[in-house]
Amino acid sequence: MLRDEDNKYCVDCDAKGPRWDSWNLGIFLCIRCAGIHRNLGVHISRVKSVNLDSWTPEQVVSLQQMGNSRARAVYEANLPDSFRRPQTDSTLEGFTRAKYEAKKHIAK
Ligand SMILES: [Zn+2]
Repeated sequence: MLRDEDNKYCVDCDAKGPRWDSWNLGIFLCIRCAGIHRNLGVHISRVKSVNLDSWTPEQVVSLQQMGNSRARAVYEANLPDSFRRPQTDSTLEGFTRAKYEAKKHIAK
């Protein structure tokens, strides 16, 4: 799945080659965003390492059904085209919380 064009960049900050994922959200993440997702709590995001952790069929299906492009279409539905992804830790955490915790950018 990491070989998909879709999943070659972190869903939140666009860093190249994500090696982490949130299997309940169905997205692939870089190590920095994985840390932020851990801070959100397991009721929002369940983070795993792509390489180190073992997988249940249910978790694999969740990632196959979503993936980064679809997740962006859902969670970033009303972000403007001109939106630039935050790159500092604190702005990135604010963005991530607005995106998944408050679901501020999903289509209404
Ligand atoms: Zn990232």
